[in-house]
Amino acid sequence: MKNYDHILLAADFFNENQVVINKAKSLADKYQARLSIVHVVDSIPITDAGYGGDIPFDLDLTAELMAIAKKKLLALAEELTINSSDTWLEIGSPKTEIVRIANETQVDLIVLGSHGRHGIALLLGSTANGVLHHAQCDVLAVRLQDN
Ligand code: AMP
Repeated sequence: MKNYDHILLAADFFNENQVVINKAKSLADKYQARLSIVHVVDSIPITDAGYGGDIPFDLDLTAELMAIAKKKLLALAEELTINSSDTWLEIGSPKTEIVRIANETQVDLIVLGSHGRHGIALLLGSTANGVLHHAQCDVLAVRLQDN
């Protein structure tokens, strides 16, 4: 069976993601592979010109969200003894960014959950589905139970 050299863990920081984290770590240990982590801060339109002048101030939480996400990402990297240079914090569409980072860093296996906050009622959530369809490498969707 093929050995994996570089595994990418897609982490969304929801509690149930621990199962996904454990799986990525044990596969990296098994294959003696490099393990990287990607987290994507979803781009949320905070203001919209179509709302006209009804919004009294410009609310931009991007910097705050990025700071919190960075803390969590680095804490997870430390827990997994991953160098910070192997962590990726991106803004945008999670599925697009996960696939882009995988391509750009020669990942040969992406590990993610079968669903997260986007897909609790679905067999495969939208991120899992999008990554599965667009990735150029193997993808492991770790089955998460609906609670
Ligand atoms: P979803 O398909 O959105 O329900 O999420 C499925 C899995 O994709 C999650 O269990 C995570 O492993 C991964 N994922 C979802 N959102 C993100 C995100 N913003 N950043 C990184 N990984 C994510």
